[in-house]
Amino acid sequence: MTLRGKLNLPEFKVVFDGEDGKVYECNIDLENKIVDTLAHMALISCEIAKNDEKKAMDIYADIVSMLYKLPMFISYAPTIKKEDEGSKERKGNYVPTAFEYFFIYTIARHLTDITVDKNTSLKDIFEKLENFEHTDTLRSLIRLYFPSIREIYEALINTPADTRPGFNFTSLASHLQLTSLISWLLQPHSIDLSYLRVASLLHDLGKLINPRHHVAEAINILEKLQNKLKSGEACIKLERVKELVASHHGDSESIVQIADRLASSADRLTKLVNEALEHIEYGKEIKECFNKEREESYECFTNLGKEKYEKASKDIYKFILSQVISLEIVKNEEAKVFPFIPEKVERSSNEIKPVRPIGYLVYIDVPSIQRFITNFPKLRDMSFASMLVDFLVTVYSFMLIDTEFVSKTKSRLPAEALLSGYGGHSYIVVRKDICDGDCYKKIKDIFKGIKLLSDLDLRLQVSVAEFAYDNYIKNYNEVWDEIRQQFSERYLVDFEEKIYSVGLHRVCDNCGIRPAVNEKLGEYLCSRCYEIRELSSTRGFISKVNSTYLLSVEVTPEEIAKEVFGDNYAEYAMEFIAGYKKLEDTRYVSIIKADGNRGSIIFSASATFSDYVDKSFRLDYGVKRAFYETLIELANAEMELSKSAKGLLLTSRVLSGVLYLGGDDITLLVPSIVAIPFAVKFFEKATQLTGFTFKVGIVSVKPDHPIQFAFQAADELMERSKIKPEDGISSTKNLSEYNKTSIACMVFSSTLASKSVVHSEISKYKRQNNSYLVVTNDIRKVKELLELAKLYEFKDVVSLYNSENDKKEVREKLRQLEDIVSYAETNFNTSNGYLKTLAYILRQIARSDKPYDKEILKKLVERKEGSLKEIPLYDYYFILKTFRVGVG
Ligand SMILES: [Zn+2]
Repeated sequence: MTLRGKLNLPEFKVVFDGEDGKVYECNIDLENKIVDTLAHMALISCEIAKNDEKKAMDIYADIVSMLYKLPMFISYAPTIKKEDEGSKERKGNYVPTAFEYFFIYTIARHLTDITVDKNTSLKDIFEKLENFEHTDTLRSLIRLYFPSIREIYEALINTPADTRPGFNFTSLASHLQLTSLISWLLQPHSIDLSYLRVASLLHDLGKLINPRHHVAEAINILEKLQNKLKSGEACIKLERVKELVASHHGDSESIVQIADRLASSADRLTKLVNEALEHIEYGKEIKECFNKEREESYECFTNLGKEKYEKASKDIYKFILSQVISLEIVKNEEAKVFPFIPEKVERSSNEIKPVRPIGYLVYIDVPSIQRFITNFPKLRDMSFASMLVDFLVTVYSFMLIDTEFVSKTKSRLPAEALLSGYGGHSYIVVRKDICDGDCYKKIKDIFKGIKLLSDLDLRLQVSVAEFAYDNYIKNYNEVWDEIRQQFSERYLVDFEEKIYSVGLHRVCDNCGIRPAVNEKLGEYLCSRCYEIRELSSTRGFISKVNSTYLLSVEVTPEEIAKEVFGDNYAEYAMEFIAGYKKLEDTRYVSIIKADGNRGSIIFSASATFSDYVDKSFRLDYGVKRAFYETLIELANAEMELSKSAKGLLLTSRVLSGVLYLGGDDITLLVPSIVAIPFAVKFFEKATQLTGFTFKVGIVSVKPDHPIQFAFQAADELMERSKIKPEDGISSTKNLSEYNKTSIACMVFSSTLASKSVVHSEISKYKRQNNSYLVVTNDIRKVKELLELAKLYEFKDVVSLYNSENDKKEVREKLRQLEDIVSYAETNFNTSNGYLKTLAYILRQIARSDKPYDKEILKKLVERKEGSLKEIPLYDYYFILKTFRVGVG
């Protein structure tokens, strides 16, 4: 066995091959899955291209690329098309997420004309993508190969592209994708670009299974693949790919080889690692291993042992950061919670002077994303609007640039060029030859004067930075600095934000802000609301409910929705998500809003650009996987009880209420009965899988509550839930203690949930020395509370939801806290009210004879660092009340 571990960030931990339950070295099963999956992808490419080899190869390169984009490609739960002979009116293939549209676009563009111009309408674009005839074939690929694709992706993201300490912070997933991207940047006139891309994407795949002889292993994989393709009579021949892979460690420098070196920033890193070895513990021993020949070198590192390997990996990484990141980052107070960020920086003497730029990074974002999404009072529109934001910054922006690129160069933007896209922004890489002269201006001009954007009254902010040179790839913070500088241009857009004077126009019936310009079914709508209403009637919420999801069983939320509300279920979107079993129910719905803590610091403190890409991939994938696993856990608990997919009453609601799930940005609507345990399990997993911590706000309201206000309330609560190092912290305390996932929760029964109400509630109850409300609740504390109340396990929540005695059961659990709350309320404004409440709690502990009652009250008065200045009275009360309003 070869000792190899990937240094994961931001958790700053080396995970060795085999430690995560899977051993990749010599894993023949994995090898077979890789060969099978790649072969199937090739056969599908030939089928779609009707055996035209060139076309098939273009398609193949984009499909293989998707293997590295799994987090986008599968979205949060894989869907398949269900057999719905019944409904005739459903013609198109509506898909739930922007990234599935992206997948369809990258394939469809090779077969049909889907170019866009400044006047193309959104409706047109959606319809073209939805009517693509091979969508079902692509879906069947997901259906059949989902487990294999996931396993391969996880192997790729958990295996370092280079096993040596100091180089092991980049995964194969990001390295291979970047290599392919750089091959494309380096080779403007390549006629066999698709072969080059496939070779680049696969060239280091052998490292998964045979780290010591990875080229031989890659050839072995390709030969097995060729045999499969021959027996399947596929139109794709991989001889050329094999040659390119075989030569990537050869003498004469091939494109793949140069791209490989650039993608790993090898030139600069080698110098920095060598320098680090002079400074760190075990530096001498490590240096000896570096100096040995191939096989002996692997032996040498293996003989070091895990402990030294891990220590050296971390020390070198930290040293590299001290040479490449800016002073601004280390000086930031928030950076101190991360042990991987050095205390000081030193400008490296090993800087490389960039020569000729070959590629640019285009950053596209929607500056007013919150305002745009919360513009819509109906869930159906809001759900579509949030998908649309992602659609615009990823698929649509990609289409715009791709159209321009093909007209200039006759070739296509590779799928790899969309580096990331979530949270309302994206990064797209473009090659130099898209423009002659002022590239920044040319690229920005592509996004100017676009009719559909001005109809939506929405702006896309576009920034451009030099990214790749023929001898250097910029680091993330260098790119980001340049992008950030352009933010001052943010308001110099090509159309004025409209200013509305009151009284002159009829105002839109929907948003109440913009002038009405169109009528639809008796409603007078502004152009934004009109556009969204037109499109959302079949997409967004509806397509989420209408999809069939692959969990441990297949589930179609629509079937359950129809049983309660009939065909008209879309009118009861919120009631459905709240978990109504009949129309007269009174259950609440919860909004869960979450965001990663200190993301910009984590990303800015990257050693290389691929380090950034890696963090971004792991975050996006980890969050989606955590959601998917939590969902499966819920589905299994429901199956256990009902034995049928029709019994997935809560699971189908959670699936339908995903408003946003990408990267560290999460907004979900769920039945309030399951909100807290779902959030706790989901974010425990997400924290563990991504290394990020999260702040989480949960607000519960009646289904008819104006959703946009509840949304803003959840947002405010989320912001307030973040655990921060307090001012003047003592130096003895370990600062990483402050980097925790935290949850804040509120229930609104009689007052309107809004940002200002959240604010005033917090100021009322959270006080300096006698606080009844914590807000920044450590997720572990919330879990303990749920466990005590027997509401942590999904089986208990599911049986509560299905119980005849649900109301009584929950009331029992809440009674003690209700009693304390009402005592606290009456004494709130009296002198010593806080102390009286504390004394009352202690008396109740002594008095009560039920163990649960005693324990829950004891939880309130657990001392925090020896003091009782704050008790989580309202926090725990709201948490249990969330269940109470969930039973109706
Ligand atoms: Zn409107």
